[in-house]
Amino acid sequence: MFPKVPAHLYRHLPFGLILVLGLGLTFTATAWVGRWEQLTRRSEFQKQTDHLTTSLQRTINRYNELLLSLEDFYRATDGQVNGWAFSQFVQRALGSYSGIQALEWAPKIPRAERPAYEQWLRDTTRGSRTSIMERTRAGQLIVAAVRDSYVPVTYLEPWRSNELALGYDLASDETRRIALERARDTGAIAATGRIQLVQETSDKQYSFLVFAPVYDRPSQTQSARRQHLKGYILGVFRVADVVEESLQDFNYDIDFFIVDQTAPTDEQFLGFYDAQAQRVVHVDDVPVDLDPPALCQPGQECDRSIQLGQREWRLLFTPAYKGKLLWGTLATLLIGLLITTSLLVFLSRWQAELKRTRELSDLKLRLFSMASHELRTPLSVIRISAQSLAVNHHQLTHQQQNSAVERIQLAAKRMGQLVNDMLTLSRAEAGKLEFSPEIVELEPFCWQIFEQVDLKPEQHLKLDLAPALAKAYLDKNLLHSVLTNLLSNAAKYSPEGAPISLIVSGDAQSIRFQVIDNGIGIPTAAQDQIFEAFYRGNNVGTVPGTGLGLAVVKTCVDLHGGSLEVCSASNQGTHMTVSLPRID
Ligand code: ADP
Repeated sequence: MFPKVPAHLYRHLPFGLILVLGLGLTFTATAWVGRWEQLTRRSEFQKQTDHLTTSLQRTINRYNELLLSLEDFYRATDGQVNGWAFSQFVQRALGSYSGIQALEWAPKIPRAERPAYEQWLRDTTRGSRTSIMERTRAGQLIVAAVRDSYVPVTYLEPWRSNELALGYDLASDETRRIALERARDTGAIAATGRIQLVQETSDKQYSFLVFAPVYDRPSQTQSARRQHLKGYILGVFRVADVVEESLQDFNYDIDFFIVDQTAPTDEQFLGFYDAQAQRVVHVDDVPVDLDPPALCQPGQECDRSIQLGQREWRLLFTPAYKGKLLWGTLATLLIGLLITTSLLVFLSRWQAELKRTRELSDLKLRLFSMASHELRTPLSVIRISAQSLAVNHHQLTHQQQNSAVERIQLAAKRMGQLVNDMLTLSRAEAGKLEFSPEIVELEPFCWQIFEQVDLKPEQHLKLDLAPALAKAYLDKNLLHSVLTNLLSNAAKYSPEGAPISLIVSGDAQSIRFQVIDNGIGIPTAAQDQIFEAFYRGNNVGTVPGTGLGLAVVKTCVDLHGGSLEVCSASNQGTHMTVSLPRID
Protein backbone atom coordinates (compact mmCIF):
# COMPACT_ATOMS: atom_id res chain seq x y z
CA MET A 1 0.00 0.00 0.00
CA PHE A 2 1.24 3.46 -0.86
CA PRO A 3 1.03 6.07 1.88
CA LYS A 4 -1.84 8.48 1.32
CA VAL A 5 -0.76 11.84 -0.09
CA PRO A 6 -2.55 14.76 1.64
CA ALA A 7 -4.88 16.74 -0.67
CA HIS A 8 -3.09 20.06 -0.14
CA LEU A 9 0.12 18.45 -1.40
CA TYR A 10 -1.66 17.54 -4.63
CA ARG A 11 -2.74 21.14 -4.94
CA HIS A 12 0.80 22.43 -4.46
CA LEU A 13 2.46 19.80 -6.63
CA PRO A 14 1.99 21.64 -9.97
CA PHE A 15 3.41 24.80 -8.41
CA GLY A 16 6.44 22.88 -7.18
CA LEU A 17 6.90 21.26 -10.58
CA ILE A 18 6.65 24.55 -12.46
CA LEU A 19 9.00 26.20 -9.99
CA VAL A 20 11.60 23.45 -10.16
CA LEU A 21 11.32 23.00 -13.95
CA GLY A 22 11.06 26.74 -14.66
CA LEU A 23 13.99 27.68 -12.47
CA GLY A 24 16.00 24.67 -13.61
CA LEU A 25 15.50 25.49 -17.29
CA THR A 26 16.06 29.20 -16.66
CA PHE A 27 19.35 28.64 -14.88
CA THR A 28 20.53 26.06 -17.42
CA ALA A 29 19.67 28.38 -20.32
CA THR A 30 21.29 31.31 -18.50
CA ALA A 31 24.47 29.34 -17.89
CA TRP A 32 24.50 28.17 -21.52
CA VAL A 33 23.90 31.63 -22.97
CA GLY A 34 26.42 33.08 -20.51
CA ARG A 35 29.07 30.64 -21.67
CA TRP A 36 28.23 31.24 -25.31
CA GLU A 37 28.36 35.00 -24.80
CA GLN A 38 31.70 34.73 -22.97
CA LEU A 39 33.14 32.59 -25.77
CA THR A 40 31.84 34.98 -28.43
CA ARG A 41 33.30 37.95 -26.63
CA ARG A 42 36.54 36.13 -26.10
CA SER A 43 36.86 35.21 -29.75
CA GLU A 44 35.90 38.76 -30.71
CA PHE A 45 38.57 40.02 -28.32
CA GLN A 46 41.11 37.64 -29.85
CA LYS A 47 40.19 38.78 -33.33
CA GLN A 48 40.55 42.41 -32.36
CA THR A 49 43.88 41.93 -30.58
CA ASP A 50 45.10 40.04 -33.67
CA HIS A 51 44.14 42.99 -35.84
CA LEU A 52 45.84 45.49 -33.55
CA THR A 53 49.03 43.44 -33.24
CA THR A 54 49.24 42.77 -36.97
CA SER A 55 48.67 46.40 -37.79
CA LEU A 56 51.41 47.53 -35.39
CA GLN A 57 53.85 44.94 -36.67
CA ARG A 58 53.06 45.93 -40.26
CA THR A 59 53.77 49.60 -39.52
CA ILE A 60 57.08 48.74 -37.88
CA ASN A 61 58.02 46.55 -40.84
CA ARG A 62 57.29 49.45 -43.15
CA TYR A 63 59.62 51.67 -41.16
CA ASN A 64 62.31 49.01 -41.30
CA GLU A 65 61.84 48.77 -45.06
CA LEU A 66 62.28 52.50 -45.29
CA LEU A 67 65.57 52.35 -43.38
CA LEU A 68 66.77 49.50 -45.54
CA SER A 69 65.91 51.46 -48.68
CA LEU A 70 67.92 54.39 -47.34
CA GLU A 71 70.77 51.99 -46.68
CA ASP A 72 70.50 50.78 -50.28
CA PHE A 73 70.58 54.38 -51.43
CA TYR A 74 73.84 54.88 -49.54
CA ARG A 75 75.33 51.74 -50.92
CA ALA A 76 74.25 52.60 -54.45
CA THR A 77 75.84 56.02 -54.30
CA ASP A 78 78.97 54.53 -52.79
CA GLY A 79 78.53 56.57 -49.66
CA GLN A 80 78.81 59.88 -51.54
CA VAL A 81 75.63 61.34 -50.11
CA ASN A 82 75.60 64.95 -49.00
CA GLY A 83 73.12 66.73 -46.80
CA TRP A 84 71.07 68.06 -49.72
CA ALA A 85 70.77 64.61 -51.37
CA PHE A 86 69.84 63.03 -48.06
CA SER A 87 67.17 65.62 -47.46
CA GLN A 88 65.72 65.16 -50.96
CA PHE A 89 65.68 61.40 -50.66
CA VAL A 90 63.85 61.22 -47.34
CA GLN A 91 61.35 64.04 -47.93
CA ARG A 92 58.63 61.88 -49.45
CA ALA A 93 59.01 59.19 -46.77
CA LEU A 94 58.66 61.77 -44.02
CA GLY A 95 55.54 63.06 -45.68
CA SER A 96 53.88 59.69 -45.80
CA TYR A 97 55.08 58.13 -42.55
CA SER A 98 53.70 60.32 -39.80
CA GLY A 99 55.11 58.07 -37.06
CA ILE A 100 58.67 59.05 -37.92
CA GLN A 101 60.14 61.79 -35.76
CA ALA A 102 63.32 62.01 -37.84
CA LEU A 103 65.53 60.18 -40.28
CA GLU A 104 69.21 60.69 -39.76
CA TRP A 105 72.64 59.78 -40.96
CA ALA A 106 75.33 59.29 -38.34
CA PRO A 107 78.80 58.39 -39.68
CA LYS A 108 81.46 56.70 -37.63
CA ILE A 109 84.11 59.36 -36.87
CA PRO A 110 87.41 58.00 -35.54
CA ARG A 111 89.16 60.15 -32.95
CA ALA A 112 91.72 61.38 -35.51
CA GLU A 113 88.98 62.75 -37.74
CA ARG A 114 87.20 64.62 -34.97
CA PRO A 115 88.81 68.04 -35.62
CA ALA A 116 88.02 67.90 -39.33
CA TYR A 117 84.47 66.82 -38.56
CA GLU A 118 84.01 69.60 -36.04
CA GLN A 119 85.32 72.11 -38.57
CA TRP A 120 82.70 70.87 -41.04
CA LEU A 121 80.10 71.19 -38.29
CA ARG A 122 81.09 74.78 -37.60
CA ASP A 123 80.97 75.63 -41.29
CA THR A 124 77.63 74.00 -41.83
CA THR A 125 75.95 75.55 -38.84
CA ARG A 126 77.66 78.89 -39.27
CA GLY A 127 79.21 78.49 -35.87
CA SER A 128 76.10 77.61 -33.89
CA ARG A 129 77.39 74.06 -33.30
CA THR A 130 81.13 73.80 -32.85
CA SER A 131 81.79 70.28 -31.56
CA ILE A 132 80.54 66.76 -31.11
CA MET A 133 78.21 66.72 -28.12
CA GLU A 134 77.11 64.35 -25.41
CA ARG A 135 74.71 64.51 -22.54
CA THR A 136 75.39 64.62 -18.81
CA ARG A 137 73.41 62.40 -16.46
CA ALA A 138 71.26 65.39 -15.68
CA GLY A 139 70.44 65.69 -19.39
CA GLN A 140 72.58 68.73 -20.16
CA LEU A 141 74.33 68.89 -23.58
CA ILE A 142 78.09 69.27 -23.25
CA VAL A 143 81.13 68.82 -25.50
CA ALA A 144 81.85 65.11 -25.99
CA ALA A 145 84.73 63.62 -24.08
CA VAL A 146 87.68 62.16 -25.98
CA ARG A 147 86.95 58.65 -27.25
CA ASP A 148 88.28 56.29 -29.92
CA SER A 149 85.39 56.96 -32.20
CA TYR A 150 82.12 58.85 -32.38
CA VAL A 151 78.79 58.39 -34.08
CA PRO A 152 77.53 61.98 -34.34
CA VAL A 153 74.19 62.85 -35.91
CA THR A 154 75.15 64.55 -39.14
CA TYR A 155 72.25 64.77 -41.56
CA LEU A 156 68.82 64.90 -40.15
CA GLU A 157 65.39 65.49 -41.54
CA PRO A 158 63.14 67.21 -40.75
CA TRP A 159 65.52 69.84 -39.51
CA ARG A 160 62.93 71.77 -37.56
CA SER A 161 62.44 70.61 -33.97
CA ASN A 162 65.34 68.17 -34.36
CA GLU A 163 68.21 70.61 -34.79
CA LEU A 164 69.36 70.04 -31.20
CA ALA A 165 70.43 66.55 -32.17
CA LEU A 166 73.00 67.75 -34.75
CA GLY A 167 76.46 66.66 -33.71
CA TYR A 168 75.17 64.56 -30.84
CA ASP A 169 77.34 61.48 -30.40
CA LEU A 170 74.94 58.54 -30.37
CA ALA A 171 77.63 56.28 -28.94
CA SER A 172 77.95 58.44 -25.85
CA ASP A 173 74.74 57.03 -24.39
CA GLU A 174 74.64 53.49 -23.06
CA THR A 175 71.25 52.48 -24.47
CA ARG A 176 72.02 53.83 -27.93
CA ARG A 177 75.53 52.36 -27.89
CA ILE A 178 74.27 48.85 -27.18
CA ALA A 179 71.93 49.04 -30.20
CA LEU A 180 74.62 50.60 -32.40
CA GLU A 181 77.03 47.79 -31.60
CA ARG A 182 74.37 45.14 -32.15
CA ALA A 183 73.53 46.62 -35.56
CA ARG A 184 77.19 46.92 -36.44
CA ASP A 185 78.06 43.35 -35.40
CA THR A 186 75.03 41.64 -36.92
CA GLY A 187 74.73 43.76 -40.05
CA ALA A 188 70.99 43.90 -39.37
CA ILE A 189 68.61 46.51 -38.17
CA ALA A 190 68.72 47.03 -34.38
CA ALA A 191 66.46 49.08 -32.17
CA THR A 192 67.26 50.75 -28.88
CA GLY A 193 65.36 50.32 -25.68
CA ARG A 194 63.28 53.28 -24.57
CA ILE A 195 65.11 56.59 -24.58
CA GLN A 196 64.48 60.25 -23.99
CA LEU A 197 65.31 62.18 -27.14
CA VAL A 198 67.85 64.96 -27.07
CA GLN A 199 65.27 67.11 -28.80
CA GLU A 200 62.38 65.99 -26.58
CA THR A 201 61.13 68.66 -24.21
CA SER A 202 58.63 66.56 -22.25
CA ASP A 203 60.00 63.68 -20.20
CA LYS A 204 56.69 61.85 -20.49
CA GLN A 205 57.23 60.50 -23.98
CA TYR A 206 59.39 57.52 -24.71
CA SER A 207 61.10 57.14 -28.04
CA PHE A 208 63.34 54.60 -29.68
CA LEU A 209 65.90 54.62 -32.42
CA VAL A 210 66.33 52.05 -35.13
CA PHE A 211 69.78 51.73 -36.69
CA ALA A 212 70.64 50.28 -40.08
CA PRO A 213 74.43 49.85 -40.41
CA VAL A 214 76.17 50.97 -43.58
CA TYR A 215 79.53 49.42 -44.51
CA ASP A 216 81.92 50.62 -47.12
CA ARG A 217 82.12 47.13 -48.54
CA PRO A 218 80.07 43.97 -48.05
CA SER A 219 81.15 42.31 -44.79
CA GLN A 220 80.21 38.86 -43.63
CA THR A 221 82.11 38.46 -40.35
CA GLN A 222 81.87 40.43 -37.17
CA SER A 223 85.46 41.67 -37.39
CA ALA A 224 85.02 42.68 -41.02
CA ARG A 225 81.84 44.53 -40.12
CA ARG A 226 83.59 46.40 -37.31
CA GLN A 227 86.40 47.29 -39.67
CA HIS A 228 84.27 48.46 -42.59
CA LEU A 229 81.52 50.24 -40.71
CA LYS A 230 80.86 53.59 -42.31
CA GLY A 231 77.98 54.82 -40.28
CA TYR A 232 74.34 54.35 -39.57
CA ILE A 233 71.04 55.28 -41.13
CA LEU A 234 68.73 55.78 -38.25
CA GLY A 235 65.09 56.36 -37.72
CA VAL A 236 63.86 58.24 -34.69
CA PHE A 237 60.46 57.21 -33.49
CA ARG A 238 58.20 58.22 -30.67
CA VAL A 239 56.35 55.21 -29.30
CA ALA A 240 53.12 57.19 -29.16
CA ASP A 241 53.36 58.40 -32.76
CA VAL A 242 54.06 54.93 -34.13
CA VAL A 243 51.24 53.27 -32.22
CA GLU A 244 48.71 56.03 -32.80
CA GLU A 245 49.50 56.19 -36.52
CA SER A 246 49.21 52.48 -36.91
CA LEU A 247 45.93 52.13 -34.99
CA GLN A 248 44.13 55.26 -36.11
CA ASP A 249 41.63 53.31 -38.23
CA PHE A 250 40.56 51.03 -35.38
CA ASN A 251 38.06 51.97 -32.80
CA TYR A 252 38.09 48.87 -30.66
CA ASP A 253 37.52 49.43 -26.98
CA ILE A 254 40.69 47.61 -25.91
CA ASP A 255 43.46 49.28 -23.95
CA PHE A 256 46.90 47.78 -23.78
CA PHE A 257 50.32 48.14 -22.24
CA ILE A 258 53.35 48.26 -24.48
CA VAL A 259 56.30 46.62 -22.81
CA ASP A 260 59.86 46.16 -24.08
CA GLN A 261 60.53 42.57 -23.14
CA THR A 262 64.24 42.79 -24.04
CA ALA A 263 64.95 45.70 -21.66
CA PRO A 264 65.82 45.45 -17.92
CA THR A 265 62.70 45.14 -15.75
CA ASP A 266 62.61 48.77 -14.62
CA GLU A 267 62.88 50.05 -18.18
CA GLN A 268 60.29 47.89 -19.85
CA PHE A 269 57.27 50.16 -19.78
CA LEU A 270 56.91 52.00 -23.09
CA GLY A 271 53.38 53.31 -22.90
CA PHE A 272 49.72 52.57 -22.30
CA TYR A 273 47.27 52.80 -25.17
CA ASP A 274 44.02 54.38 -24.09
CA ALA A 275 41.58 53.09 -26.72
CA GLN A 276 38.86 55.59 -25.97
CA ALA A 277 41.16 58.57 -26.43
CA GLN A 278 43.11 56.69 -29.15
CA ARG A 279 46.27 57.93 -27.48
CA VAL A 280 49.33 56.44 -25.85
CA VAL A 281 49.62 57.81 -22.34
CA HIS A 282 52.48 57.93 -19.90
CA VAL A 283 52.71 55.64 -16.88
CA ASP A 284 51.44 58.45 -14.64
CA ASP A 285 48.16 58.51 -16.57
CA VAL A 286 47.51 54.78 -16.47
CA PRO A 287 44.42 53.97 -14.37
CA VAL A 288 45.67 52.96 -10.93
CA ASP A 289 43.74 49.71 -10.81
CA LEU A 290 45.54 48.39 -13.88
CA ASP A 291 48.56 46.29 -13.16
CA PRO A 292 50.06 44.55 -16.21
CA PRO A 293 51.21 41.31 -14.52
CA ALA A 294 47.91 40.85 -12.70
CA LEU A 295 45.95 41.78 -15.78
CA CYS A 296 47.42 39.43 -18.28
CA GLN A 297 49.55 36.38 -17.66
CA PRO A 298 52.21 35.49 -20.24
CA GLY A 299 50.90 33.16 -22.91
CA GLN A 300 47.27 34.13 -22.48
CA GLU A 301 45.18 35.41 -25.35
CA CYS A 302 45.75 38.95 -24.10
CA ASP A 303 49.53 38.68 -24.44
CA ARG A 304 50.92 39.34 -27.94
CA SER A 305 54.40 40.15 -29.10
CA ILE A 306 55.90 41.99 -32.03
CA GLN A 307 59.46 42.01 -33.34
CA LEU A 308 61.32 45.22 -33.75
CA GLY A 309 65.00 45.53 -34.64
CA GLN A 310 66.18 42.44 -32.74
CA ARG A 311 63.95 43.30 -29.78
CA GLU A 312 60.68 41.89 -28.63
CA TRP A 313 57.83 44.17 -27.65
CA ARG A 314 54.93 42.69 -25.74
CA LEU A 315 51.43 44.06 -26.01
CA LEU A 316 49.42 43.28 -22.89
CA PHE A 317 45.76 43.84 -23.75
CA THR A 318 43.25 44.54 -21.01
CA PRO A 319 40.55 41.90 -21.36
CA ALA A 320 37.86 44.45 -20.51
CA TYR A 321 35.16 42.15 -21.88
CA LYS A 322 35.59 40.01 -18.76
CA GLY A 323 34.05 42.56 -16.43
CA LYS A 324 31.33 43.72 -18.79
CA LEU A 325 27.68 42.97 -18.30
CA LEU A 326 26.48 40.00 -20.34
CA TRP A 327 23.25 41.44 -21.70
CA GLY A 328 22.15 38.26 -23.45
CA THR A 329 22.66 36.27 -20.27
CA LEU A 330 20.80 38.81 -18.20
CA ALA A 331 17.95 38.87 -20.72
CA THR A 332 17.74 35.05 -20.69
CA LEU A 333 17.60 35.03 -16.90
CA LEU A 334 14.90 37.71 -16.80
CA ILE A 335 12.84 36.10 -19.56
CA GLY A 336 13.13 32.71 -17.83
CA LEU A 337 12.05 34.17 -14.51
CA LEU A 338 9.25 36.07 -16.22
CA ILE A 339 7.94 32.95 -17.94
CA THR A 340 8.15 30.94 -14.71
CA THR A 341 6.36 33.68 -12.76
CA SER A 342 3.72 34.04 -15.49
CA LEU A 343 3.12 30.29 -15.45
CA LEU A 344 2.80 30.35 -11.65
CA VAL A 345 0.37 33.27 -11.79
CA PHE A 346 -1.59 31.57 -14.57
CA LEU A 347 -1.71 28.33 -12.58
CA SER A 348 -2.82 30.06 -9.41
CA ARG A 349 -5.55 31.91 -11.32
CA TRP A 350 -6.60 28.72 -13.01
CA GLN A 351 -6.73 26.95 -9.65
CA ALA A 352 -8.71 29.80 -8.13
CA GLU A 353 -11.12 29.61 -11.07
CA LEU A 354 -11.35 25.87 -10.64
CA LYS A 355 -12.02 26.32 -6.93
CA ARG A 356 -14.73 28.85 -7.67
CA THR A 357 -16.32 26.54 -10.21
CA ARG A 358 -16.18 23.69 -7.73
CA GLU A 359 -17.67 25.85 -5.01
CA LEU A 360 -20.43 26.92 -7.37
CA SER A 361 -21.22 23.39 -8.32
CA ASP A 362 -21.16 22.43 -4.61
CA LEU A 363 -23.49 25.32 -3.95
CA LYS A 364 -25.82 24.19 -6.67
CA LEU A 365 -25.77 20.68 -5.32
CA ARG A 366 -26.53 21.92 -1.83
CA LEU A 367 -29.24 24.14 -3.25
CA PHE A 368 -30.89 21.26 -5.06
CA SER A 369 -30.74 18.92 -2.11
CA MET A 370 -31.91 21.62 0.30
CA ALA A 371 -34.64 22.79 -2.02
CA SER A 372 -35.90 19.30 -2.64
CA HIS A 373 -35.81 18.54 1.09
CA GLU A 374 -37.28 21.85 2.22
CA LEU A 375 -39.93 21.76 -0.46
CA ARG A 376 -40.79 18.13 0.02
CA THR A 377 -41.67 18.51 3.70
CA PRO A 378 -44.23 21.32 3.31
CA LEU A 379 -45.48 19.71 0.09
CA SER A 380 -46.24 16.46 1.85
CA VAL A 381 -47.86 18.41 4.70
CA ILE A 382 -50.07 20.11 2.11
CA ARG A 383 -50.77 16.85 0.30
CA ILE A 384 -51.66 14.89 3.45
CA SER A 385 -53.73 17.71 4.96
CA ALA A 386 -55.56 18.27 1.70
CA GLN A 387 -56.17 14.54 1.31
CA SER A 388 -57.52 14.18 4.82
CA LEU A 389 -59.75 17.18 4.22
CA ALA A 390 -61.01 15.68 1.00
CA VAL A 391 -61.50 12.09 2.19
CA ASN A 392 -62.49 12.55 5.83
CA HIS A 393 -64.34 15.77 5.38
CA HIS A 394 -67.48 14.46 7.21
CA GLN A 395 -65.74 12.72 10.08
CA LEU A 396 -63.56 15.77 10.96
CA THR A 397 -64.69 18.23 13.54
CA HIS A 398 -64.76 21.88 12.69
CA GLN A 399 -61.63 22.48 14.72
CA GLN A 400 -59.79 19.62 13.00
CA GLN A 401 -60.71 21.02 9.64
CA ASN A 402 -59.43 24.46 10.64
CA SER A 403 -56.12 23.10 11.85
CA ALA A 404 -55.64 21.15 8.58
CA VAL A 405 -56.23 24.38 6.64
CA GLU A 406 -53.81 26.23 8.95
CA ARG A 407 -51.15 23.54 8.35
CA ILE A 408 -51.62 23.92 4.60
CA GLN A 409 -51.31 27.70 4.89
CA LEU A 410 -48.16 27.46 7.04
CA ALA A 411 -46.54 24.97 4.68
CA ALA A 412 -47.40 27.14 1.69
CA LYS A 413 -45.95 30.14 3.50
CA ARG A 414 -42.69 28.29 4.20
CA MET A 415 -42.46 27.29 0.59
CA GLY A 416 -43.18 30.84 -0.48
CA GLN A 417 -40.50 32.19 1.87
CA LEU A 418 -37.96 29.70 0.52
CA VAL A 419 -38.77 30.57 -3.09
CA ASN A 420 -38.55 34.29 -2.24
CA ASP A 421 -35.15 33.90 -0.58
CA MET A 422 -33.77 31.92 -3.52
CA LEU A 423 -35.14 34.45 -5.94
CA THR A 424 -33.62 37.36 -4.02
CA LEU A 425 -30.20 35.67 -3.91
CA SER A 426 -30.18 34.62 -7.55
CA ARG A 427 -31.31 38.07 -8.67
CA ALA A 428 -28.60 39.66 -6.52
CA GLU A 429 -26.04 37.25 -8.00
CA ALA A 430 -27.16 38.17 -11.51
CA GLY A 431 -27.00 41.87 -10.64
CA LYS A 432 -30.69 42.26 -11.15
CA LEU A 433 -31.63 43.18 -7.62
CA GLU A 434 -32.06 46.89 -7.72
CA PHE A 435 -31.82 49.55 -5.06
CA SER A 436 -34.73 51.93 -5.42
CA PRO A 437 -35.32 54.05 -2.33
CA GLU A 438 -38.55 55.86 -1.55
CA ILE A 439 -40.08 57.65 1.40
CA VAL A 440 -41.18 55.10 3.97
CA GLU A 441 -43.40 55.84 6.91
CA LEU A 442 -41.56 53.72 9.39
CA GLU A 443 -44.17 53.02 12.09
CA PRO A 444 -46.91 51.56 9.83
CA PHE A 445 -44.22 49.79 7.85
CA CYS A 446 -42.88 48.06 10.99
CA TRP A 447 -46.34 47.03 12.19
CA GLN A 448 -47.06 45.57 8.79
CA ILE A 449 -43.90 43.45 9.04
CA PHE A 450 -44.80 42.37 12.61
CA GLU A 451 -47.99 40.93 11.20
CA GLN A 452 -46.05 38.70 8.84
CA VAL A 453 -43.81 37.19 11.55
CA ASP A 454 -44.87 33.80 12.87
CA LEU A 455 -44.67 33.94 16.59
CA LYS A 456 -44.65 31.05 19.06
CA PRO A 457 -47.34 31.01 21.74
CA GLU A 458 -46.97 33.85 24.19
CA GLN A 459 -44.17 35.50 22.18
CA HIS A 460 -44.69 39.16 21.56
CA LEU A 461 -42.99 41.82 19.43
CA LYS A 462 -42.12 45.22 20.79
CA LEU A 463 -41.43 48.26 18.63
CA ASP A 464 -39.33 51.12 19.96
CA LEU A 465 -39.25 53.83 17.31
CA ALA A 466 -37.56 57.19 17.87
CA PRO A 467 -40.24 59.89 17.39
CA ALA A 468 -37.98 61.92 15.11
CA LEU A 469 -37.89 59.00 12.67
CA ALA A 470 -41.42 59.05 11.41
CA LYS A 471 -40.30 58.94 7.81
CA ALA A 472 -37.11 57.80 6.09
CA TYR A 473 -35.84 57.50 2.55
CA LEU A 474 -35.21 53.74 2.14
CA ASP A 475 -35.71 50.83 -0.24
CA LYS A 476 -38.91 49.28 1.00
CA ASN A 477 -38.42 45.85 -0.57
CA LEU A 478 -34.85 45.43 0.68
CA LEU A 479 -35.77 46.63 4.18
CA HIS A 480 -38.78 44.30 4.16
CA SER A 481 -36.53 41.28 3.42
CA VAL A 482 -34.05 42.36 6.09
CA LEU A 483 -36.54 42.89 8.90
CA THR A 484 -38.77 39.86 8.19
CA ASN A 485 -35.76 37.54 8.18
CA LEU A 486 -34.22 39.00 11.33
CA LEU A 487 -37.52 39.03 13.24
CA SER A 488 -38.47 35.52 12.03
CA ASN A 489 -35.09 34.21 13.23
CA ALA A 490 -35.55 35.96 16.57
CA ALA A 491 -38.93 34.27 16.96
CA LYS A 492 -37.72 30.92 15.67
CA TYR A 493 -34.71 30.69 17.97
CA SER A 494 -36.41 32.08 21.12
CA PRO A 495 -38.53 30.07 23.53
CA GLU A 496 -42.28 30.49 23.86
CA GLY A 497 -43.32 33.59 25.72
CA ALA A 498 -40.02 35.39 25.16
CA PRO A 499 -40.15 39.04 24.18
CA ILE A 500 -38.59 40.27 20.90
CA SER A 501 -37.71 43.93 20.36
CA LEU A 502 -37.20 46.04 17.29
CA ILE A 503 -35.53 49.33 18.14
CA VAL A 504 -35.34 51.91 15.40
CA SER A 505 -33.03 54.85 16.07
CA GLY A 506 -30.81 57.12 14.05
CA ASP A 507 -28.59 60.13 13.73
CA ALA A 508 -27.60 62.49 10.96
CA GLN A 509 -25.64 59.80 9.13
CA SER A 510 -27.58 56.56 9.53
CA ILE A 511 -30.68 54.77 10.67
CA ARG A 512 -30.22 51.77 12.94
CA PHE A 513 -32.55 48.77 13.23
CA GLN A 514 -31.79 46.57 16.24
CA VAL A 515 -33.50 43.18 16.65
CA ILE A 516 -33.03 41.78 20.13
CA ASP A 517 -34.11 38.38 21.43
CA ASN A 518 -33.39 36.17 24.44
CA GLY A 519 -33.09 32.94 22.48
CA ILE A 520 -30.48 30.21 22.06
CA GLY A 521 -27.86 32.69 20.79
CA ILE A 522 -25.18 32.09 18.17
CA PRO A 523 -21.97 30.31 19.24
CA THR A 524 -18.95 32.63 18.82
CA ALA A 525 -17.20 30.20 16.48
CA ALA A 526 -20.18 30.21 14.11
CA GLN A 527 -20.59 33.97 13.91
CA ASP A 528 -18.21 34.35 10.95
CA GLN A 529 -20.15 31.89 8.82
CA ILE A 530 -23.79 32.59 9.52
CA PHE A 531 -24.04 34.96 6.54
CA GLU A 532 -22.96 32.27 4.09
CA ALA A 533 -25.78 30.67 2.11
CA PHE A 534 -26.98 27.33 3.58
CA TYR A 535 -24.93 27.67 6.74
CA ARG A 536 -26.84 26.69 9.89
CA GLY A 537 -25.55 26.83 13.45
CA ASN A 538 -24.97 23.49 15.19
CA ASN A 539 -27.15 24.53 18.12
CA VAL A 540 -30.38 24.90 16.10
CA GLY A 541 -31.61 21.39 16.93
CA THR A 542 -34.88 20.61 15.16
CA VAL A 543 -35.80 24.20 14.42
CA PRO A 544 -36.61 24.19 10.69
CA GLY A 545 -34.62 26.44 8.35
CA THR A 546 -32.75 26.69 5.08
CA GLY A 547 -29.67 28.68 6.03
CA LEU A 548 -30.63 31.33 3.45
CA GLY A 549 -32.22 34.02 5.63
CA LEU A 550 -29.09 35.81 6.82
CA ALA A 551 -27.46 35.49 3.35
CA VAL A 552 -30.49 37.40 2.02
CA VAL A 553 -30.20 39.95 4.86
CA LYS A 554 -26.54 40.55 4.10
CA THR A 555 -27.16 40.88 0.35
CA CYS A 556 -29.90 43.44 0.94
CA VAL A 557 -27.89 45.43 3.52
CA ASP A 558 -24.88 45.51 1.17
CA LEU A 559 -27.07 46.72 -1.66
CA HIS A 560 -28.32 49.45 0.64
CA GLY A 561 -24.72 50.45 1.41
CA GLY A 562 -25.20 49.59 5.08
CA SER A 563 -23.51 47.38 7.65
CA LEU A 564 -24.44 44.47 9.88
CA GLU A 565 -23.29 43.70 13.39
CA VAL A 566 -23.92 40.58 15.49
CA CYS A 567 -23.63 40.49 19.22
CA SER A 568 -24.46 37.08 20.62
CA ALA A 569 -23.27 34.08 22.58
CA SER A 570 -24.68 30.60 23.24
CA ASN A 571 -27.87 30.84 25.35
CA GLN A 572 -27.34 34.57 25.84
CA GLY A 573 -29.79 35.81 23.22
CA THR A 574 -28.93 37.64 20.01
CA HIS A 575 -28.59 41.31 19.24
CA MET A 576 -28.49 42.11 15.50
CA THR A 577 -27.82 45.69 14.39
CA VAL A 578 -28.39 46.90 10.85
CA SER A 579 -27.11 50.40 10.02
CA LEU A 580 -28.33 51.97 6.81
CA PRO A 581 -26.92 55.27 5.57
CA ARG A 582 -29.30 58.20 5.33
CA ILE A 583 -29.94 59.41 1.83
CA ASP A 584 -32.00 62.57 2.27
P1 ADP B 1 -31.95 29.45 9.05
O1 ADP B 1 -32.55 30.27 10.16
O2 ADP B 1 -32.95 29.08 8.02
O3 ADP B 1 -31.18 28.30 9.55
P2 ADP B 1 -30.43 31.83 8.53
O4 ADP B 1 -29.54 32.19 7.39
O5 ADP B 1 -31.55 32.75 8.82
O6 ADP B 1 -30.90 30.37 8.30
O7 ADP B 1 -29.56 31.78 9.82
C1 ADP B 1 -28.31 31.11 9.75
C2 ADP B 1 -27.98 30.53 11.13
O8 ADP B 1 -27.74 31.61 12.03
C3 ADP B 1 -29.09 29.80 11.77
O9 ADP B 1 -29.12 28.45 11.34
C4 ADP B 1 -28.75 29.94 13.24
O10 ADP B 1 -27.78 29.00 13.61
C5 ADP B 1 -28.15 31.29 13.34
N1 ADP B 1 -29.11 32.33 13.78
C6 ADP B 1 -29.62 33.32 13.02
N2 ADP B 1 -30.40 34.15 13.75
C7 ADP B 1 -30.37 33.65 15.02
C8 ADP B 1 -30.95 34.06 16.25
N3 ADP B 1 -31.74 35.14 16.35
N4 ADP B 1 -30.72 33.30 17.37
C9 ADP B 1 -29.88 32.22 17.27
N5 ADP B 1 -29.30 31.78 16.14
C10 ADP B 1 -29.54 32.49 15.02
